Amino acid sequence: MIEQEDPSRDRLKQHFAKRVIHQARQVLEVWQRLQQVEWNAVDMAELVEANLGLLRYAERFEQAVHAQLAASIGQCLGAVEANRGRLNSQLITELNQLMQRLSRTGLRHGDQYEQTFLPPLRKPVYLALQDFERAERLAQQLEFFGLTAQALDSANAFRAAMTERHPAAILMEVDFAGPGIGLQLASEAQQGLEQKLPLLFFSHEDTDTPTRLAAVRAGGQEFFTGNLDASSLIERIEVLTHVSQYDPYKVLIIDDSRAQATHTERVLNSAGIVTRTLTEPIQAMAELADFQPDLIILDMYMPDCNGPELAKVIRHNDRYVSVPIIFLSAEDDLDKQLDAMSEGGDDFLTKPIKPRHLIATVRNRASRARNLKSRMVRDSLTGLYNHTHTLQLLEDARFRARRDGQPLSFAMLDIDHFKRVNDTYGHPMGDRVIKSLALFLKQRLRKTDHIGRYGGEEFAVVLPDTDAVTAAKVLDEIRQRFSEIVYPAQPQDLSCTFSCGIAELRGELDSNLLSKQADEALYVAKHGGRNRVAVHSE
Ligand code: GH3
Ligand code: MG
Ligand code: MG
Repeated sequence: MIEQEDPSRDRLKQHFAKRVIHQARQVLEVWQRLQQVEWNAVDMAELVEANLGLLRYAERFEQAVHAQLAASIGQCLGAVEANRGRLNSQLITELNQLMQRLSRTGLRHGDQYEQTFLPPLRKPVYLALQDFERAERLAQQLEFFGLTAQALDSANAFRAAMTERHPAAILMEVDFAGPGIGLQLASEAQQGLEQKLPLLFFSHEDTDTPTRLAAVRAGGQEFFTGNLDASSLIERIEVLTHVSQYDPYKVLIIDDSRAQATHTERVLNSAGIVTRTLTEPIQAMAELADFQPDLIILDMYMPDCNGPELAKVIRHNDRYVSVPIIFLSAEDDLDKQLDAMSEGGDDFLTKPIKPRHLIATVRNRASRARNLKSRMVRDSLTGLYNHTHTLQLLEDARFRARRDGQPLSFAMLDIDHFKRVNDTYGHPMGDRVIKSLALFLKQRLRKTDHIGRYGGEEFAVVLPDTDAVTAAKVLDEIRQRFSEIVYPAQPQDLSCTFSCGIAELRGELDSNLLSKQADEALYVAKHGGRNRVAVHSE
């Protein structure tokens, strides 16, 4: 028997689905809060409560994916409770993965890729600019990047929109609807809100300090002046509205005393930090490669080799030059401490150490190290991984794919006739196109895909767990959509295309050969007429 399609029932379902999404957002908000402060019983209780709500709604409104996620989160939280309220590395990792999935689960159906295509839980962005046409054009550009945006043409329209629905973010021109009125409208909108809305100000002219101060007081988190380009706007909105992009810090503890290590693990786990312990210092390098910690805690005295010696060995490897090393020891002799530090340690903590002190030290060091590392491995124009690091990530991914028996694809992209863009529109316009393709890729690929800027107008993508056929499908969709973007420009508007070559990991291929094959496929795509995707064939 064929099931009858009932359109009104479908609409009703859509409507209920939105309520489920709303509840999911609440879960994610509590979760996000838990990452910033220290984990505590009150917040945990709130998380349990919010998740129960999600489960109930999702079941009632037949949202299977959400119901399943809520049930799994509930199980994890139950396990925390059974563990006397204690977190451990496994639970932290599991919870984090579930939350990441939840944050990517929008109102869409279909396969894994479709679900990650549009950013989650997307409310509109309100655009309040003096020049309404400009706001509308900007709205159109935002839509290309999967954001919904609404241009507003008057103070009343803004107020009405605010009453109707709170946006994901507001872009407000300081002088919207009259000199200084934009500022007023924005602070009015923020008043009485428990959670302030992400607010970005814009002004044509460079403004004076009092105006900027007023903007800050109105809750402005960003102040754009001069030329407002869609890519930088989107980038800021993404940062300001992102839910659950956070990955827990990872700490490797190297200590020959199991009891001491367990104690350290417990303290760090209670703060949501994932740990791994190694009691055999000799295995340190293998463990580092596998675990990729943000920070290492090292015992001073161990039988096979002492802490400072091991620190030296670790530092000899380029990849770990910047991973912070903290010595943990009963040593209170200042000279020995200084010696240890000169061997590549970053800090020295003496036992017994107060849990709060340990947690704060680890968080500070790890956060700064992550910042530093992201600057070292990323390209400054686009924020994507640089060439060297992309290849490193490809190598890591190859190792995992082989170990887990999963497919792996590598894609290389090159913008077509890019020299002409520079020649006709100037280098800055070329840069904007490069940035916008970078952003486009970031938005449309999965979080587990690694995106690099391989060279000038060349990009590379590492796609784990993906065969060449799927990779080609995904990248072709991106190619199609990218070619539809219109950049407003003189003498006429500009559109760009790219070509793409894909290779899949087979047999004993090393990553050099894999990237060579992707390059060959790219060559085929270029010579086949550009603006297309080609897969390497034997
Ligand atoms: P094809 O379709 O064969 O790829 O043609 P193409 O013009 O894109 O290729 P070609 O390699 O001849 O030219 C690439 C141009 O990209 C040359 C270079 O000036 C420009 N380019 C490289 N890096 C940057 C950059 O960071 N910014 C800008 N604006 N241009 C760049
Ligand atoms: Mg090129
Ligand atoms: Mg090119």
